[in-house]
Amino acid sequence: ATPTAIMVGTGKAAELGILISGGEALEQAHRLTTVVLDKTGTLTRGRPGVVHLGTAAGVGADELLAYAAAAETGSEHPLGEAVVREARERGLALPAAESFEAVPGHGVEARAGGRAVLIGNPALMRRHGIGTGELEQAAGAVAAEGGTPVYVALDGRLAGVIGVADEIRPESREAVDRLRALGLDVWMLTGDNRVTAEVVARKVGIDHVIADVRPEDKAARVAALREGGAIVAMVGDGINDAPALATADLGIAIGTGTDVAIAASDITLVGGDLRGIVSAIDLSRRTVSTIK
Ligand code: ADP
Ligand code: MG
Repeated sequence: ATPTAIMVGTGKAAELGILISGGEALEQAHRLTTVVLDKTGTLTRGRPGVVHLGTAAGVGADELLAYAAAAETGSEHPLGEAVVREARERGLALPAAESFEAVPGHGVEARAGGRAVLIGNPALMRRHGIGTGELEQAAGAVAAEGGTPVYVALDGRLAGVIGVADEIRPESREAVDRLRALGLDVWMLTGDNRVTAEVVARKVGIDHVIADVRPEDKAARVAALREGGAIVAMVGDGINDAPALATADLGIAIGTGTDVAIAASDITLVGGDLRGIVSAIDLSRRTVSTIK
């Protein structure tokens, strides 16, 4: 590739809100066979809201939300932010947070107002020996709508389930369709549960779904696709996507996502429009063909 062709290509991309670091990324893009997309914050907007509050016997909805929000006050996770925002909008007084620990891929362990608070997925509850049976039906209903159910336990007992849902970006479906029309395999890779993941995947037209992936395993799943002969672009926004972004042949970050994800990537989609992936491939093809 001549430096001039690459400069022109990179400049055109920048005009489209696609920031490409280095000529190699631009030359790689047209060779891709596979695009792997994170769900939350990538296919969806990353600003979820609370859509359901289900309580166990003897627990009040305000009590549930207040303790959950107190526990999530220190959280940077979009699910945590949704819970805190909802409590604030309802004008709830939050118990004082005394300790906070994020458990990546699982949730939060905290103390607030003198009580032990757990908030997260079934694996987190299992770790603490807390059964979820009483609220599994409510959780299933949230997931069936494409939302994420998170369980809350107070002092070692199941207290409720909070349903959190994020809007799918309006351009996600078109981006997936166009990638598939180019002959690419499109995958979803998410730490969220299988039911929720599949509902969202169906809405955007993705049929290969890898769900329930722990943050430390995301990169391994990308590596496995590469070992199978695929040339892989990983697209993500979160801290937990960074190792996978760095492992892929091409890392593509959502510009509105975390700095860590952007630093680990070769390309940044400034406004988060996934159709930028198609434009990058197109520019790559044209850049390479003008060189030859
Ligand atoms: P994703 O791949 O969608 O970004 P994560 O790996 O961050 O997912 O999280 C996986 C799952 O762990 C979430 O779907 C949620 O059930 C649970 N979880 C993680 N962090 C939190 C949190 N701060 N509050 C509640 N649940 C959480
Ligand atoms: Mg994400």
